Amino acid sequence: MRILIVEDEPKTGEYLCQGLGEAGFVVDLASNGIDGLHLALQGKYDLVILDVMLPGLSGWQILQSMRQHGLQMPAMFLTARDQVEDRVKGLELGADDYLVKPFSFAELLARVRTILRRGRSGTESTTLRVADLELDLLRRRVTRAGKRIDLTAKEFGLLELLMRRSGEVLPRSLIASQVWDMNFDSDTNVIEVAMRRLRIKIDEGQDVKLIQTVRGMGYVLEAPEEP
Ligand code: CA
Repeated sequence: MRILIVEDEPKTGEYLCQGLGEAGFVVDLASNGIDGLHLALQGKYDLVILDVMLPGLSGWQILQSMRQHGLQMPAMFLTARDQVEDRVKGLELGADDYLVKPFSFAELLARVRTILRRGRSGTESTTLRVADLELDLLRRRVTRAGKRIDLTAKEFGLLELLMRRSGEVLPRSLIASQVWDMNFDSDTNVIEVAMRRLRIKIDEGQDVKLIQTVRGMGYVLEAPEEP
């Protein structure tokens, strides 16, 4: 799942990026209102976390503009302002939650998960399935044939991408940008290493191998066709 954070305080922004990244989300950070709105309007996020007082455009203006463009993705305000009228204004504009600084990361994470659960109910399943492999996006659990598989945050992100686009051959450059948020660098074998570990966890000892390497092209996860 992708989260956009718009926050101009570098410390808070980095803290959020790191924490949410470690929790397995793919996070983009904008440090002013203009960049934040630009990214938000691309519409590729599952949640937008907005500071209120920002250079360029306020968090309120960003949300207003998103809604005017028909974007209904959930939004959470994060701000030092704790006055009642501010809270009401944020909620009137269609925010899903409001968190006052300072906050604990544990609380933020709990609220983020609640919003994502609510935001997706009825519209999209929160469980991805390919053959007997299941990935629960909210509880962040993976099972194969009902047996729990423990993954690191990066392995989880990698598997989520492969399962969302099951049947498609994904080039390493795409995996690098989506899961590692980095540009493809041919000197690094970080993807190969992570993929090898993931395959051991998912496929080792199984009759049916779900993850395949397509030589010179990338990786694909798919259920083999019935014989
Ligand atoms: Ca601010």
